[in-house]
Amino acid sequence: MSQFKEILLIKNGELALKGLNRGTFEAVLLKNLRYRLRPLGKFGLRKAQSTIYIEPLEAGTDLDEVSDRVAQVFGISAFSRAMVVEKEMGAILEGAASYLAEALQQARSFKVEARRADKSFPLGSPEICAQVGEYLLERFPHLRVDVHAPELTVWIEIRDFAAYIHAPQRAGAGGMPVGTGGRAAILISGGIDSPVAAYMMAKRGVELTAVHFASPPYTSERAEMKVVSLLEQVAAYAGRIDLRIVPFTHIQEEIQRKCPEDLFTLIMRRFMMRIAARVARSADCGALVTGESVGQVASQTIPALACTDAAADLPVFRPVIGMDKEEIIAIARRIGTFETSIQPYEDCCTVFTPRHPRTRPKLEMVEQAEEALDIETLIEEALAGIRRQMVHSR
Ligand code: ATP
Ligand code: MG
Repeated sequence: MSQFKEILLIKNGELALKGLNRGTFEAVLLKNLRYRLRPLGKFGLRKAQSTIYIEPLEAGTDLDEVSDRVAQVFGISAFSRAMVVEKEMGAILEGAASYLAEALQQARSFKVEARRADKSFPLGSPEICAQVGEYLLERFPHLRVDVHAPELTVWIEIRDFAAYIHAPQRAGAGGMPVGTGGRAAILISGGIDSPVAAYMMAKRGVELTAVHFASPPYTSERAEMKVVSLLEQVAAYAGRIDLRIVPFTHIQEEIQRKCPEDLFTLIMRRFMMRIAARVARSADCGALVTGESVGQVASQTIPALACTDAAADLPVFRPVIGMDKEEIIAIARRIGTFETSIQPYEDCCTVFTPRHPRTRPKLEMVEQAEEALDIETLIEEALAGIRRQMVHSR
């Protein structure tokens, strides 16, 4: 535990604010921060002087964990973890030397930057920099000052209620606060791509409802738990996710029984789109999201994607459409979904995969094949069997 009084500072200049009302943006961001920090203790969150202050109110709060969580909240491009001291030069000098001792020891060169928001403070920024610089040189004689390319920058900020000392900022997750970008329904499988697609939409401020198609007994309860576990990881970024599990077995059996094998996957995907679009509308979502990428499998050629889209009466977003598998995997690793995604559980798609799927399907051909099915009844039946679960981040 730290012996210093510390807080987190998120400055407005670092909010990725574009085209949105600042008040809405900040209100949503504060709400999202509260949601993510609640399990870690009590915090005072307030906004003043175009800065959000996160102050732990309980002794023993783990600020490393707080920082890690703040780094996952969209709408923040950078933040600082700072020591709080009295607005008095003696306290500032002593604070800088002790709080940043380890970093100062490791650096060979440094500089001091000062900001004085409280104009009643007796020294100006240049004087603060000079005094702090001089004091640190005395205490850490191996250091030299380098104002152009220092290894370490020491920040001193004199604000309304206190002075703050910090080293360089840490990168935030960027993006927009979740909830400022409308709602969309993510079609989530247990694979690598769809959790990444979900993350990417959440990054643009989009709140997610998730739709998963399960085909018991061909797919197991463990496969469903894998999806929940993936969504728990995505929820660290996306906030809570409303998950709908749709029974898909009967539809798949009907397609297998009544449609040509080479169109099986495509017809199945068109059912997914129709059902997901119905769920989306009922959940106030304006779009569907999938983890498809051009050419990855037979159902992801452009003609196949066109046939899939034709069944959805909502826009379909595919944030990883132009990415290589390696690029998708790199994101999956970074957001912590990869290890779960590669666990070997069967998916409803893999269970019924045709031997020779058609890669250049024609829509008329597909529609004709679908005439063998009672589409509306199958959809109604699936919708009636939906189970619902709210997924929270761990
Ligand atoms: P992923 O890695 O996301 O599973 P994939 O490359 O394996 O993708 P497909 O299995 O063809 O590709 O699925 C393409 C997309 O269709 C997925 O990214 C997902 O959005 C959706 N999808 C596939 N299976 C399901 C399912 N069982 N439930 C809901 N959506 C699904
Ligand atoms: Mg898949």
